[in-house]
Amino acid sequence: MIDKIKKLEKISTQLELKPEKRKNWNQSVLSYIDTFLDDFNPTTTFQVSEDMGKGILDIPIEEAGKPMEQLLIALKDNVDRPNLNPASAGHFGYIPGGGVYTTALADYMAAATNRFSGVFYACPGGVRMENHLIRWMCKMVGYPDTALGNLSSGGSIANLSAISTARDVKEIKARDIENCVIYLTDQVHHCVQKALRIAGMREAIIRYIPMDGAYKMKTPFLAQQIIADKKEGLRPFLVVGSAGTTNTGTVDPLDQIGQLAKMHDLWFHVDAAYGGFFMLSPEMKPLFKGIELSDSIAIDPHKGLFLSYGIGALLIKNVKALYKTHQYSATYLQDQINVEEDPSPADLSPELTRHFRGLRMWLSLQLMGISPFRAAIEEKVYLCRYFYDKIQEVGFEVGPYPELSIAIFRYVPKQGDPTKFNDKIVELIKQDGRIFFSSTTIDGVYWIRFAVFSFRTHLPHVELALSLLKDIIFNKKLENRSI
Ligand SMILES: *Cc1c(COP(=O)(O)O)cnc(C)c1O
Repeated sequence: MIDKIKKLEKISTQLELKPEKRKNWNQSVLSYIDTFLDDFNPTTTFQVSEDMGKGILDIPIEEAGKPMEQLLIALKDNVDRPNLNPASAGHFGYIPGGGVYTTALADYMAAATNRFSGVFYACPGGVRMENHLIRWMCKMVGYPDTALGNLSSGGSIANLSAISTARDVKEIKARDIENCVIYLTDQVHHCVQKALRIAGMREAIIRYIPMDGAYKMKTPFLAQQIIADKKEGLRPFLVVGSAGTTNTGTVDPLDQIGQLAKMHDLWFHVDAAYGGFFMLSPEMKPLFKGIELSDSIAIDPHKGLFLSYGIGALLIKNVKALYKTHQYSATYLQDQINVEEDPSPADLSPELTRHFRGLRMWLSLQLMGISPFRAAIEEKVYLCRYFYDKIQEVGFEVGPYPELSIAIFRYVPKQGDPTKFNDKIVELIKQDGRIFFSSTTIDGVYWIRFAVFSFRTHLPHVELALSLLKDIIFNKKLENRSI
């Protein structure tokens, strides 16, 4: 037996890198990243590819390892080349963010030290750090000291946890679901409908409340609908407001929704995945009035704090509510009982073993301070307003005035189908590749979206976007302009 163990050990020790090898591989990875990051000007945001990264399949997973250089080439050609580069300053599609480099540094450390931040007992400092960050966000939104929450992998999971929590706090049992009513607008992010399904509420009644011209919920309709539903013997239980919709960056009248929710004893959830961190700006904060009336909020540091993908947050006004859905004890975790000075993420989320994601947010905020984040957020607001003004001078039609950093626009040609025409614009921009737009359809109308939210995006990139659009309209082609 000892012989066998020693034989296996000889091979398994390869998993612990020798210092020399560690240094070499570190060097290779660092130089790969340096090349990637120094390559942003001129920007390449979208690279149309025939192969769609298929070459990654040509490298089989085998018994023996392969040289780092071979793998980095495969990565560069197949993963970091085709299609969208969300790290690029020219990314105006969906919701950009960019990914500040301090995320990478912190993730490197979190992975290398591999601390277990799921329970207080295992890593009290890590749990305190995460709760400290959550309390900082709770304070920003005006929640009381009873509030806490959880750092999730993203906004979708934060929304799911909130909805599951609402269901349990409001004691909605399986037999009640058909009579339950949920109130939203059709501009709510689709992850909310998805969460309702995952949370077993597929059969619940969803009421889509009408919106005004700026796509805000018309609260008098909400009030009427709740009263009508109660009269019918239904059970209104949840209202979801958006603090920054994905399509147009619209903030619902949170104050009015909050008051109605209170009056009718509904759980009030706010999806602030995109918009939440605009509250760091004193200039923008009044828009969010009433968010403190909510019971739960989803907010995404991988959007509004420009961190790399993989961190969202759920904030809950009364942390006890979270326990109801998420706490569970097991015999194999008995050592941790009664040593908690701060709640464990494992009791406040579906996860047990998890990425120590708090470190990336903590290191980024601590190293750079809040000030550059706030400035970047405000800069994006003004860049969006600038674009909104200038694009009209080119002859484009626009949607409502941007409340945050998203504008919608389209060109209505003298003849022909506007949808086809605008779709062609998006396609031409994609072929050029320096910038990227995504599109949407609202009330049957095709719009191009201008979402400016990468920390890397500054005035020259917006000017480039404007000049490319101008070239398309006036020359029907793209001039070779760089910034
Ligand atoms: C991005 C977004 C989500 C989903 O969050 P993920 O982090 O992508 O899972 C939910 N709601 C809104 C308003 C969003 O913008």
